[in-house]
Amino acid sequence: MTTHKVKALLLGLAMAIPCALAAADRPSVRALKITVLSTMLADGDELGEWGFAALVEADGKKILFDTGAKTDVVQKNLGTLELSVAEVTDVVLSHWHWDHIGGFMALRREAMKKDPTALARTHVAAGFFDPRRGTPPGIELNRMIALRPEYEATGGKFIVHERAVELQPGVWLTGPVPRKHPERNWSGDTRVITASGEREDTLADDMALVIDTRDGLVIVTGCGHAGVVNIVAHARAVVRPARVHALIGGVHLFRASYETLKWTAAKLSEAGVDHLIGAHCTGIETVWRLRDLLGLDRTRCVVGAVGQTFELGNGIDARTIAK
Ligand SMILES: [Zn+2]
Ligand SMILES: [Zn+2]
Repeated sequence: MTTHKVKALLLGLAMAIPCALAAADRPSVRALKITVLSTMLADGDELGEWGFAALVEADGKKILFDTGAKTDVVQKNLGTLELSVAEVTDVVLSHWHWDHIGGFMALRREAMKKDPTALARTHVAAGFFDPRRGTPPGIELNRMIALRPEYEATGGKFIVHERAVELQPGVWLTGPVPRKHPERNWSGDTRVITASGEREDTLADDMALVIDTRDGLVIVTGCGHAGVVNIVAHARAVVRPARVHALIGGVHLFRASYETLKWTAAKLSEAGVDHLIGAHCTGIETVWRLRDLLGLDRTRCVVGAVGQTFELGNGIDARTIAK
């Protein structure tokens, strides 16, 4: 073996060892609880609405994922469920749609009375603040454009992500999701105005939260407009190619044909999905069909309801109404 080849071999080994260690030492979340705060189905004293929000507790740190549709629904549900966001610093807004940002400013204003750092940092993906046009014409549909200076005036800060990022050990944001498969998981004919002109709004800013656990990935989506198969593929490419231990949130398949659902389930099966909480725009019949197609049972696949939880180690605590 020439000196050159020996050097190349040693260099290869030196590079391979840290990589192998890095994979083994990859931080994974040990304690995880996700509570649904906004969706259409509600029980007892909680309120339902067309929207989505969830509280994510990972290794003692809380993140608010989306804020519901109406100004006060998430706030009221937090009270009923005896939860608080006063100690939550970070908010994730999955995309610009009204049914995910409705409670945003009211929650910030209420929480900052107790602690000015509460809900003071908000994560969005690139494209989130782009102007949107549709029906009625000539009106700015993206309410976040007006809310941005209002939030910043309270001391809040937006972080716009161009790509995937690890927020805390084992907790990731996907950033904008590559559209590998031509899923069209959105409704309407909204247009987006970008630097390169006006075009159909494909919700380029749609992003998901991914938690890396010992049992696999837990993925939280708002509407899943990027396509649930694209989201799962991106999460597995960016974080690690593990099974999907749980998929929680809206995946905007409520109008999907049975053919689309069959294709979606087949693709999801390749990744392996152990639990599904189909909330918000997933659709009730879609949840039922996906349960069947994915071979899940009623303890592992339910229609999302306000107050419902998913806990690492314990799975889904479905409220009576959602079982
Ligand atoms: Zn939505
Ligand atoms: Zn949406």
